[in-house]
Amino acid sequence: MSLNIKVEKTTNPKTKPDANNLVFGHNFTDHMFIMDYTEGIGWHDPRVIPYQPISLDPSTMVLHYGQAIFEGLKAYKAKDGRVLLFRPNKNMERINISNERICIPPIDENFAIEAIRTLVDIDKDWIPEAEGTSLYIRPFIIATDPYLGVRPSNTYMFMIILSPVGMYYPEGINPVKIYVEPSYVRAVKGGIGFAKTPGNYAASLKAQVEAEAKGYTQVLWLDGIERKYIEEVGTMNVFFKIKGKVVTPALEGSILAGITRDSTIALLKHWEIPVVERRISIEEIFEAQAKGTLEEAFGTGTAAVISPIGELNWAGNKILINEGKTGELSARIYDTITGMQNGSLADELGWIMVL
Ligand SMILES: *Cc1c(COP(=O)(O)O)cnc(C)c1O
Repeated sequence: MSLNIKVEKTTNPKTKPDANNLVFGHNFTDHMFIMDYTEGIGWHDPRVIPYQPISLDPSTMVLHYGQAIFEGLKAYKAKDGRVLLFRPNKNMERINISNERICIPPIDENFAIEAIRTLVDIDKDWIPEAEGTSLYIRPFIIATDPYLGVRPSNTYMFMIILSPVGMYYPEGINPVKIYVEPSYVRAVKGGIGFAKTPGNYAASLKAQVEAEAKGYTQVLWLDGIERKYIEEVGTMNVFFKIKGKVVTPALEGSILAGITRDSTIALLKHWEIPVVERRISIEEIFEAQAKGTLEEAFGTGTAAVISPIGELNWAGNKILINEGKTGELSARIYDTITGMQNGSLADELGWIMVL
């Protein structure tokens, strides 16, 4: 694709937020990227414009049937001033996996990376530099036909917006309390659980709200058929360390293939720490705790990177994992991934793209 990105710069730059008090996903930079898709023409008119509201007909398909996908990745400013992206090719590959499932036409992955680089470069002064901060990048695609019939849209918009962020959880890398969800399910095999699409989030809100009301940060999702096997934790993948070995649920169609999950597995292999992808029942975790072999549990995702789990509540049975403290391995993975991301550690696995 030899598309030229047209750039229109803002004449009215915004005041930047205080880098020490960033709330996740709350502030947006001065510019945004948009490109349109029209059946018969393909993707066209890529452009960077001042950040602004978009106008949509009330009948626009995405508003009714949720035909949309999104991504999330981060840009960091290194101490030496370089701007670093973490595995952006993985996110763009995943956009097309999600697109395929949701009947959205594919994008050119290399061109999408070019769009991210162009936009981030224009707004690079927005990348915060304080410890634990970064610029969150949110690419997304929505179906834009003004039509109430149910079918895939013939027109789409691909947009990218940027948001300077601090730590995802106000608790930072401190362990969170997790409620094992006994009845609601997030996704089933054959459904859309492996796609990064808004419907999965709509499906998850009720359980999250109820867990929060009980004093928990997030829920641990069990499989949709037997409510027996562990799937994900909130909007993160999940790992357990049992007797020196690390286990994480295998990708069987209902789980999102996280890039932080993939990076964690690769790092563990690099360190020669045993790691297995397989089915894990919630019973197995509680039994391991009873035997004293459950050493650590943590979630992985771009937003929080690593989020240690300090407590699990399953049907009223509560267990405190690693005495409710951040485990050694959780901290090591967090320090390594964030160190590579912000350029303070060597990019040993070739994951960093310099802007
Ligand atoms: C985005 C997401 C993740 C984490 O994926 P990363 O690529 O590591 O950010 C995990 N689960 C769900 C449901 C997600 O949407």
